[in-house]
Amino acid sequence: MKQPLGASRPLAAPPLAASRPLASEAPGVAPAPRAASAPAPEMLLDVPRSVPRYNGALPGVVEGERPTLDQIRRELGDCRRCKLCTGRKNIVFGSGNPRADLVFVGEGPGESEDLQGVPFVGAAGDLLTKMIGAMGFTRNDVYIANVVKCRPPGNRNPEPDEIAACEPFLRSQLLAIQPRVIVALGKFAAQTLLRDTTPITRMRGQWREYEGIQLMPTFHPAYLLRNSAEKRKAWEDLQQVMKLFGKHPGSSA
Ligand code: URA
Repeated sequence: MKQPLGASRPLAAPPLAASRPLASEAPGVAPAPRAASAPAPEMLLDVPRSVPRYNGALPGVVEGERPTLDQIRRELGDCRRCKLCTGRKNIVFGSGNPRADLVFVGEGPGESEDLQGVPFVGAAGDLLTKMIGAMGFTRNDVYIANVVKCRPPGNRNPEPDEIAACEPFLRSQLLAIQPRVIVALGKFAAQTLLRDTTPITRMRGQWREYEGIQLMPTFHPAYLLRNSAEKRKAWEDLQQVMKLFGKHPGSSA
């Protein structure tokens, strides 16, 4: 019988630093240099270097303590920290197993998610649910969250000030969950968590590290719906994740 994810895992997950800023976030520390062959500026994401880095204490986190998702949700409250609050119907906090070993991070809620208050329940969500199933998990095994928790109007990209206001909550959530692996779905998730403006086309499929947690960047399901030829690459990325969990395609173990 399949054990719930995380059931047997000691709290040995690398302690995420509640109070320690990332090296690249530390005041006065220059961001890591870009790769030698820098991508053309138009390929770089709209998380420009001018976006203020998050250096403060994480919301809902008592310094040095592991928070609960409930504490973080309470801290978020009826959030008015950015302009997305004016158009939202519901805050989409996240859903799934609060002790998940595997967390998926998307970009931000779309219309269906905004209406239901649950991440990835529209067309892209259907594909993500299939991807999770093909990996041998269910949505209840994993946790799903987004970079921004309110729907950008007309499903536009989240803007830097909106990301800056919301991402500390995502960081707190990851500190609460302490997964073994994060799958970053698309450029906003990967570039925000990694503080790296490399295009997702170059980042995907390469293991990275977020606060001591293995992170696999891959394509966003919405992108895959528009570019089905890229599904094969995303599946390769997810198979790397499965391997880390000792899972094999076609088995439900
Ligand atoms: N796309 C996302 O990035 N997140 C959702 O929750 C839904 C669609």
